[in-house]
Amino acid sequence: MTFQPPYRIGNGFDVHRLVAGRKLILGGIEIPFERGLEGHSDADALLHAVCDAILGALAAGDIGQHFPNTDPRWKDCDSAVFVQESVRLARQAGYRVSNLDVTIHAERPKLRFHIDTMRKRVSELVDAPESCIGIKAGTMEKMGFVGREEGIAVSASVLLQVASGG
Ligand code: MG
Repeated sequence: MTFQPPYRIGNGFDVHRLVAGRKLILGGIEIPFERGLEGHSDADALLHAVCDAILGALAAGDIGQHFPNTDPRWKDCDSAVFVQESVRLARQAGYRVSNLDVTIHAERPKLRFHIDTMRKRVSELVDAPESCIGIKAGTMEKMGFVGREEGIAVSASVLLQVASGG
């Protein structure tokens, strides 16, 4: 029988460049802004960080391994698919998401009024109550690539727990 700890912790981090001519998709929702994140998929850095946190907790590699950006299947793909697949892998291993804590680093746009919509969407995707989904956003005080508004970075921590009764 394989070792199954009662809890597994994971962390994920992702960065995407802000460019003209793309929609800004973050936390599974569209946010009105003059630029969007560049990437092979919809470039949702928040959902990518969440994916990596879940995969990391499972010691199951990373998002690039599971969903290579060379695969035409994932071109402009809704990153919800990646999260749902990661959650499926967790379930298969006998775990569910206990709670999730996310920090967005973005100079602009102001995200405060979108946080609750993101929490609701992420809660649906990881199948955990909204009260267990923390999302915070802060600037980098105009320093570095975030401060120059060249990109958005997101870090995520997740706790998985053994799913009782399957
Ligand atoms: Mg990414």
